[in-house]
Amino acid sequence: MSDSNCIFCKIAAGEIPSKTLYEDDSFRVILDISPASKGHAIILPKKHAANVYELSEEDASKIFVVAKKVATAMQKVLQCDGMNILQNNGEVAGQSVFHLHVHLIPRYKDDKLTIKWTPG
Ligand code: IMP
Repeated sequence: MSDSNCIFCKIAAGEIPSKTLYEDDSFRVILDISPASKGHAIILPKKHAANVYELSEEDASKIFVVAKKVATAMQKVLQCDGMNILQNNGEVAGQSVFHLHVHLIPRYKDDKLTIKWTPG
């Protein structure tokens, strides 16, 4: 259920304080500690899953509903011009914390932020 060595398990459970934007029975959405842009948030499932392969079907089916809800509220508040919603699996793909999370990265005209990926 939760991993005692996992910092995101502790944050999701409220054992470590965070800037929480949204919480329900299954998820907590917090501000990223090292934001790529103003308002960068991450969605943390309360049940530990290291990556998308381990994520339960129930959490998989709910997490994008949360992403849509929070992204919509963020867009209204921040008046951002766009939003990247992304999720990394494995070190080679840019994952640095091995508790699945979905990034909500507001984008602004001329923010010069580069989201790197390798097409094809
Ligand atoms: P990843 O590289 O996709 O695994 O993303 C990990 C994200 O977690 C990065 O954007 C980090 O800045 C963020 N992060 C790491 N530790 C904390 C924390 O304690 N609180 C909030 N965000 C964190």
